[in-house]
Amino acid sequence: MKHTPLSRDSGSVSLVGAGPGDPELLTVKAIKAIRRATVLLVDDLVGEGVLRYARRSARIVHVGKRGGCASTPQAFIQKLMVAEARRGETVVRLKGGDPFVFGRGGEEAEYLRAAGIQVDIVNGISSGLAAATALGVPWTHREHAHGVMLVTGHAGESNADLHWPTLAAAAAQGLTLVVYMGVQRLAGIRAGLLATLGAATPAALVQHASSAQERRLVTTLGRLVKDATQAGIASPAILLVGNVLLACQADWAHAELQATVS
Ligand code: SAH
Repeated sequence: MKHTPLSRDSGSVSLVGAGPGDPELLTVKAIKAIRRATVLLVDDLVGEGVLRYARRSARIVHVGKRGGCASTPQAFIQKLMVAEARRGETVVRLKGGDPFVFGRGGEEAEYLRAAGIQVDIVNGISSGLAAATALGVPWTHREHAHGVMLVTGHAGESNADLHWPTLAAAAAQGLTLVVYMGVQRLAGIRAGLLATLGAATPAALVQHASSAQERRLVTTLGRLVKDATQAGIASPAILLVGNVLLACQADWAHAELQATVS
């Protein structure tokens, strides 16, 4: 693809993390970028309250693609960003959580740079982090977890599904497992993890972390699917697995894990 270089006063694109939902979790940098934007392209996992910072004159385009079914094709979004920047607009691409954590931010930054568009990235609080905090536990803890693995439960078009028994082996070493986009594949993930981890391993799901609709389920790997179905936990949700769930004197810690839903 051939691109004409931009003049100095041409537009720009910022890939901005909108955080997990609660507008108070936006960074100051994100708020400043949203205020400057003349065009906002908004993903569907972006909390409504975040848009209160947009100028009244800003054009807001919702480009969500819920559940992996493309309501706005990725290629269209990318072309739109380039076209708007070339027209001199200050474009903000608002993404849920952090733009570089399963947010296609990497692909978009590559595309924009290849097109000669100036692009900057503004971090956001990723939903996996907000989910752990919603449960009152950290990702890492000196006594319970020496690292963290962020993985997708849905590898998408690449079809390169993860080898769950291998991840379970790493979790057994004391790495907290944080699974994005995993709710629809819970049964398969559970089965793969149980190849290495015991059925009593703590597991939790947090839906809509940090927002008013937040729901939490704390249970064990053995009972995960049954309890999640019973509680009606659906996307968007984060699955956390590991002994770190027993840390920090959270309500359920050190008691025999009975499913708790809140
Ligand atoms: N860039 C985002 C992740 C996008 S992938 C981030 O950093 O958070 C989409 C997945 O993120 C969803 O399927 C779900 O697993 C998770 N997700 C996004 N927002 C969420 C929220 N508020 N609560 C729980 N999970 C969320």
